Amino acid sequence: MGDPRGFLTTPRQDWPRRPVGERVRDWDEVCVPGALLPIISKQADRCMDCGIPFCHEACPLGNLIPEWNDLVAREDWRQASDRLHATNNFPEFTGRLCPAPCEAGCVLAINQPAVTIKNVECAIADRAWEEGFTPPRPPDRLTGRTVAVIGSGPTGLAAAQQLTRAGHTVAVYERDDRLGGLMRYGIPAFKMEKHHLERRLEQMRAEGTKFRTSTAVGRDVGADELRSRYDAVVIATGATAWRELDVPGRELAGVQQAMEYLPLANRVGEGDLDSSPMSAAGKHVVIVGGGDTGADCLGTAVREGAASVTQLDIYAQPGAERDEDAEPWPTYPRIYRLSAAHEEAGELGTAPAADADARLFAASTLRFTGDADGRVRALHLVEVDARRRPRPGTGRALPADLVLLALGFSGPDRTDGLVDQLGLELGPRGTIARDASFATNVPGVFAAGDAARGQSLIVWAIAEGRAVAAAVDHHLTGSSRLPAPIGPYDRPMAV
Ligand SMILES: Cc1cc2nc3c(=O)[nH]c(=O)nc-3n(C[C@H](O)[C@H](O)[C@H](O)COP(=O)(O)OP(=O)(O)OC[C@H]3O[C@@H](n4cnc5c(N)ncnc54)[C@H](O)[C@@H]3O)c2cc1C
Ligand code: SF4
Repeated sequence: MGDPRGFLTTPRQDWPRRPVGERVRDWDEVCVPGALLPIISKQADRCMDCGIPFCHEACPLGNLIPEWNDLVAREDWRQASDRLHATNNFPEFTGRLCPAPCEAGCVLAINQPAVTIKNVECAIADRAWEEGFTPPRPPDRLTGRTVAVIGSGPTGLAAAQQLTRAGHTVAVYERDDRLGGLMRYGIPAFKMEKHHLERRLEQMRAEGTKFRTSTAVGRDVGADELRSRYDAVVIATGATAWRELDVPGRELAGVQQAMEYLPLANRVGEGDLDSSPMSAAGKHVVIVGGGDTGADCLGTAVREGAASVTQLDIYAQPGAERDEDAEPWPTYPRIYRLSAAHEEAGELGTAPAADADARLFAASTLRFTGDADGRVRALHLVEVDARRRPRPGTGRALPADLVLLALGFSGPDRTDGLVDQLGLELGPRGTIARDASFATNVPGVFAAGDAARGQSLIVWAIAEGRAVAAAVDHHLTGSSRLPAPIGPYDRPMAV
């Protein structure tokens, strides 16, 4: 710790965002490039070295936060990079995308703004790449054992990197034409530019991991064939079966799923399309669902030039401060948060009929109505109470030419036949069942990430990937020195 009084003398300062008017005209990341490094050592020095770091416990990866805060405060970037990469394969992903449960658990956050842990993580990761502190780490020797990883999201990539580095020969099978899972075609580039992904994939190729894209296991290659060709199989296929909204008018053209819409915008960014066939340009857009996927649709629609955008949230507007009884420190509270997309919508006044930042809270969709051509033209809603009972007299209609359903995901997508071909047992929530060592009911087949845990976060996905790698390594060799930051039944800290 450089300055033991840092938290008393230095106020919290976040990585500044570019002006709204500038950033909505491009798809680059919203933060000001280069503006983090000059402020971050002082910010890291706000860490109190509190003795029992709850931040460390709140991070599913068990990131060694106080250690790297201290190293950054002293500008020892090499050591900071080593300590960070000891627990996280992809800190530039989490440094940009993680909702930072660690900051909710920061001891300083009891009565002051938390340390900017996520920003410190991102600064270390970016600096490490700039300085060449993260060269490929191929194994010294091969074990002769082979592993197939199905799915190239953060779970599959973390598992593959850990197993490759442990000396196993690993092939990642991905049904999409490009690698990265939801980080490729779900999450927009303004949250994380894709070159961060490409750079890690280059590192992994150089370490010896093999990739097979455009190959859906179950459809293009039989799941049993894979099982007989490899010593172990890891299923990391995500949970992308989307939830439906079963109301009148759902069949109208222009009522789309968020994950039909976002991949097209991402494909424009990749250069596959000149413009999105589902573009929001000139349209009145209503997003049904108040979560992060909805916010990603909001930021995308704003950049595409929507005439208006409104986001509906079925829950009441949360308060600005945590409810100490229901969600005490150090848990991650549901509070009013203003994402970059909400800030943009608010400043641009994209939804004159909604609240200041384009969100309508406690709003339940009743039905859609359309025109003679079968295209959606309006969304009818009603305000609801905490038990989702309609409040009389609150019904109204919003103009809607494009409705995006962002209602979350129910479990793994089973259309490729992988689950049925292997005869995998499912849990009560439709996810792939596994035992305490990540093993499914099929010998030699393991399951990890959203496919087994259910819809989650990048940080959990990486933790799952690391943990399943340790389990597979143990299965193949009888012991393992790979770290396992979580068990399959661990859940976020809660009351
Ligand atoms: C729009 C959106 C935005 C999000 N934003 C954030 C965020 O900002 N921060 C955050 O922490 N989390 C975010 N999440 C959640 C996060 O992306 C997921 O929790 C995480 O990607 C799960 O990782 P995974 O590797 O388990 O699965 P996925 O990322 O879903 O990857 C699974 C991969 O498996 C492939 N696959 C599936 N079936 C087969 C098959 N049969 N054969 C071969 N390949 C197959 C899929 O094509 C996919 O590439 C977001 C999710 C969405 C939908
Ligand atoms: S991965 Fe997320 S929870 Fe862990 S230190 Fe980084 S921002 Fe915090």
